[in-house]
Amino acid sequence: IKPIHIIGGGMAGSEAAWQAANMGVPVIIHEMRGVRGTEAHQTDKLAELVCSNSFRSDDHTSNAVGVLHEEMRRANGLIITKGGEHSVPAGSALAVDREGFSEDVTATLEAHPNITIVREAVDDIPPEDWDSVIIATGPLTSIKLAEAIRAHTGEEDLAFFDAIAPIVYFDSIDMDKAWRQSRYDKPGPHGEKAAYINCGMNEAQYNAFIDALIAGEKTEFKDWEKDTPYFEGCLPIEVMAERGRETLRFGPMKPVGLTNPHDPDVKSYAVVQLRQDNALGTLWNMVGFQTKLKYGAQADIFRMIPGLENAQFARLGGIHRNTFLNSPKLLDSQLRMKSMPRLRFAGQVTGVEGYVESAAMGLLAGRFAAAERLGQELAPPPPTTALGALVGHITGGHLEGKQSFQPMNINFGLFPDPDPETIPKKDEEGRRLRGKAKGRAKKGVQAVRALQDIDAWLAAQREPVAAE
Ligand code: FAD
Repeated sequence: IKPIHIIGGGMAGSEAAWQAANMGVPVIIHEMRGVRGTEAHQTDKLAELVCSNSFRSDDHTSNAVGVLHEEMRRANGLIITKGGEHSVPAGSALAVDREGFSEDVTATLEAHPNITIVREAVDDIPPEDWDSVIIATGPLTSIKLAEAIRAHTGEEDLAFFDAIAPIVYFDSIDMDKAWRQSRYDKPGPHGEKAAYINCGMNEAQYNAFIDALIAGEKTEFKDWEKDTPYFEGCLPIEVMAERGRETLRFGPMKPVGLTNPHDPDVKSYAVVQLRQDNALGTLWNMVGFQTKLKYGAQADIFRMIPGLENAQFARLGGIHRNTFLNSPKLLDSQLRMKSMPRLRFAGQVTGVEGYVESAAMGLLAGRFAAAERLGQELAPPPPTTALGALVGHITGGHLEGKQSFQPMNINFGLFPDPDPETIPKKDEEGRRLRGKAKGRAKKGVQAVRALQDIDAWLAAQREPVAAE
């Protein structure tokens, strides 16, 4: 059997290699550390954790990343299993002893009879005789390879930075204050005239908001981030506010072409717009609101916006060096590049965010590539599972793949809603569930459904239908 080539032996590449090799397919990992470093990695070990040692919540009853952990465990995931074996106390979170963890992952992969590890950088689109490739080079993909991919995909479809705008849960937006409208009621590509949610401000509210942005606590850019090309084009809102009090009113907060139906006679002085972020309409991103404000400051300041006083955030904003593709446009549901299907992508470069999510996309890419090599059909996991919700989001569930696609953590907003009839309405003592308890009950139902559905997906692979 011809080998699958995996470029990058980080979280995703290590997991992909393990999954494919366990399906009986030979794998060659090409990892540059050992001959060339990155700005953040410290060692030459595979699956090095570059920053925190946390895999976040391990609660698979009501937390989306905990559900993803459990699905990966059931799929014999290497990263999650070794994480568990090297865990350190962290309450309900899974935190790992980073050295023991990456040494063990490296040794396990080195010992696997189907895996070869080559220490070299791949700085161009791989040669054609590599007919099955998984590119898992992560947020710090070498600039040369990133540029080669960018030349192939086009400028707009590979980012060097993530300029992440905060994402708000729809049901936490106060629609008695906010309203739906597109600027000048201009119809969108499908004729829709009310594509945005708008939050209007009067002059006093705007001024207080600008003061808070300027005063808010910020995280600093690192020198190597500033030195990377393509830095322009992702200025944080607080930097725009510092450049002049009116800058935002003439930029992402311009009020033109919008009328607040709750108060039609008063012109808004500034407007914050939110754009739908997933096909389900449960997540909305704050347009143009990329920021380096610290998380606590962000939540406080953004709740000053009329209509967002009680906003719950699926993710807060940030700006980091992060190489990632416009996956909804470029990749098919098997994580293959549509324009060059011998290339698959996995990990953070596909636009997921975090150690666990990156390993999860490695798990799928490894299985997809091995199945293809073996002439088997392997459909992606159903969208009701964490693995399926995540791969669905990056390969199509996200709207308008072009401009607005930004890296995403797993969260319940990516899962379809369960049948309302299946969600408990009362607690064990018969009291009506409200607020957070109501939300927890819904997540509980989504979690149980996810694990049932992943079991079915995995069982179908273990028990192929007998040939007639
Ligand atoms: P990586 O784990 O980075 O693996 C990519 C591998 O590809 C690397 O080993 C690299 O050496 C190799 N490579 C790159 N280019 C080439 C090439 N041309 N040829 C051969 N090999 C190549 N996530 C969290 O969950 N928690 C955090 O605290 C956190 N902190 C972060 C801090 C920083 C500074 C950065 C940059 C990212 C952070 N992340 C964090 C995100 C984190 O990087 C990812 O979650 C995860 O490591 C991505 O996995 P990956 O396999 O896609 O990439």
